[in-house]
Amino acid sequence: MKPIQMVDLLGQYEKIKPEVDAAMAEVVRTTAFINGPEVKAFETELSEMLGVKHVIACANGTDALQIAMMALGLKPGDEVITASFTFVATVEVLALLGLVPVFADVLPGTFNLDPADVARKVSPRTKAIVPVHLFGQPADMDAIMEIAKKNSLYVVEDDAQAIGADHMGATGTHKAGTIGDIGTTSFFPSKNLGCFGDGGALFTNDDELAKKIRRVCNHGSEVRYYHDTVGVNSRLDSLQAAVLRIKLKHLSEYAAARNAAAANYDHAFADIAELSTPERSPFATHVFHQYTLRVAGGSERRDELKKHLEANGVPAMVYYPVPCHLQNAYKSTRFAQGSLPITEKLTHEVISLPMSTELHVDQLDHITATVRKFFK
Ligand SMILES: *Cc1c(COP(=O)(O)O)cnc(C)c1O
Repeated sequence: MKPIQMVDLLGQYEKIKPEVDAAMAEVVRTTAFINGPEVKAFETELSEMLGVKHVIACANGTDALQIAMMALGLKPGDEVITASFTFVATVEVLALLGLVPVFADVLPGTFNLDPADVARKVSPRTKAIVPVHLFGQPADMDAIMEIAKKNSLYVVEDDAQAIGADHMGATGTHKAGTIGDIGTTSFFPSKNLGCFGDGGALFTNDDELAKKIRRVCNHGSEVRYYHDTVGVNSRLDSLQAAVLRIKLKHLSEYAAARNAAAANYDHAFADIAELSTPERSPFATHVFHQYTLRVAGGSERRDELKKHLEANGVPAMVYYPVPCHLQNAYKSTRFAQGSLPITEKLTHEVISLPMSTELHVDQLDHITATVRKFFK
């Protein structure tokens, strides 16, 4: 059996190596390293796959979130409702811009924003909601869009973990990240659509917003050396775009491989009373950026399981051990310990198993047998 990794990036590369190597060599040969034709072509191809009017590539998923807030013209003091049970980037960009993160709790089964708590957190200062489609499954966008409409709020979807997932809602089936005003994503190597370094993108159906996003990405400039607004420098390298164009063609088969591994896990753990397998929403497909279990009994039992797995050659990770509202950088009196009970409980219960497009049956068998042995 091949040693098990959380994510097998080399195994995935080896299957597309000739194509990827040739595409990268071609970028080097043409020396169109920045804003080359590969970037434009990738933006077009991704917009076709997502069914969205505009895709604007940028340097990483954190930038994408920051650029979204800047393009929407949010001002210091504006409140933005988001999850605390997320990767810190979602909250970091709010703090950087002087925006006030207001945390809503999540649902224990799907780990996604609880619309009822989002509605409770709306105030006269609220300007936007940022749902995070955590671990690869879209949040309840019908409910979130309804709250946004009722209160005239923007919606920015953090789609860093769920690119390609479908949301089947009141207005039909749409790709995650294309339902709100802006969607953002990351092409970090281990993401579902990962490049060979950093990368990110924003999606929107709004022509005016697309223009503003492009301007922010490009130093606040539309005509070279004329700067109308404060911007940033955030670009996707042509080399990364060349890799992403090839991987994009495989994205649906990658999602199928992840779902097959998830189904294998679900089946193997169905009769373990102490474990909860990830809940599937009736209104969405799941692309399993992570396969995340909940262990009854809290962090002690969960950490014992993690140790047992690692001792038997099975890597496991806790996403996320500390919620954003309890991080030293983001602590506040409003969101003290106990203020987001589900979020806090989840940080003690969750454990993510290896998940990638390259998990072989013998590896899956070893992982599931090792987990089962712990609970026997
Ligand atoms: C990865 C990730 C980001 C940030 O993406 P980078 O490309 O690493 O900057 C933002 N939000 C979520 C939910 C993520 O998982």
